Amino acid sequence: MNERLAVGDARGSDIEEALTLSKTKDDAGEALIKNDAVRERLADWFCEANGLKYTKFRTISALSKGEAPGPEASITKIVSANKLQSIGNFGIDAGDMAGMLIDEDEGVSSFQGAWLGAPGLRIAGGTDEILRNVIAERVLGLPQDPRADKGLAFKDIPTKV
Ligand SMILES: Cc1cc2nc3c(=O)[nH]c(=O)nc-3n(C[C@H](O)[C@H](O)[C@H](O)COP(=O)(O)OP(=O)(O)OC[C@H]3O[C@@H](n4cnc5c(N)ncnc54)[C@H](O)[C@@H]3O)c2cc1C
Repeated sequence: MNERLAVGDARGSDIEEALTLSKTKDDAGEALIKNDAVRERLADWFCEANGLKYTKFRTISALSKGEAPGPEASITKIVSANKLQSIGNFGIDAGDMAGMLIDEDEGVSSFQGAWLGAPGLRIAGGTDEILRNVIAERVLGLPQDPRADKGLAFKDIPTKV
């Protein structure tokens, strides 16, 4: 859970960068932010960023009382890694065909960094699928996946049929 908390606080492009880009980047003579589809995505990222902020506050409050991060911290990793990937994609798309090109002076942009790094973050510290299972079973209390190896030590798991 500590690793998930750390990965869930991944640095990179966020709603502020996406907003700035939307206001400054031109789309056929108009700022991108005038585009309804862009505004809809900005609204989603805004909600996700603020949901993350308050979920982290809740975790910090629990830590300050001596409690360990609970399974609900899986939510922050799923949301932040997917948001980072989505914002990275947006930044690359906004650059059109030049979006992939690395500026010789500036180096990799924060959007390109997000685009390249976020897929790894969705795996490191537990994949999206594993974290969804954690949330389903341990936060929402849904029935568990069938597990033929449940309760078996790793050395006792059959390796041949
Ligand atoms: C950038 C990066 C940094 C890393 N850093 C470290 C590190 O510092 N130290 C370290 O020890 N490891 C590190 N790892 C490894 C990482 O912890 C594992 O890659 C990760 O936990 C996934 O395990 P796996 O690769 O064995 O995938 P697998 O467990 O083989 O999963 C393969 C696929 O099957 C899916 N899957 C597996 N089981 C289930 C299930 N029960 N239900 C649904 N779907 C399932 C997974 O979601 C995934 O899509 C890092 C990985 C990355 C990408």
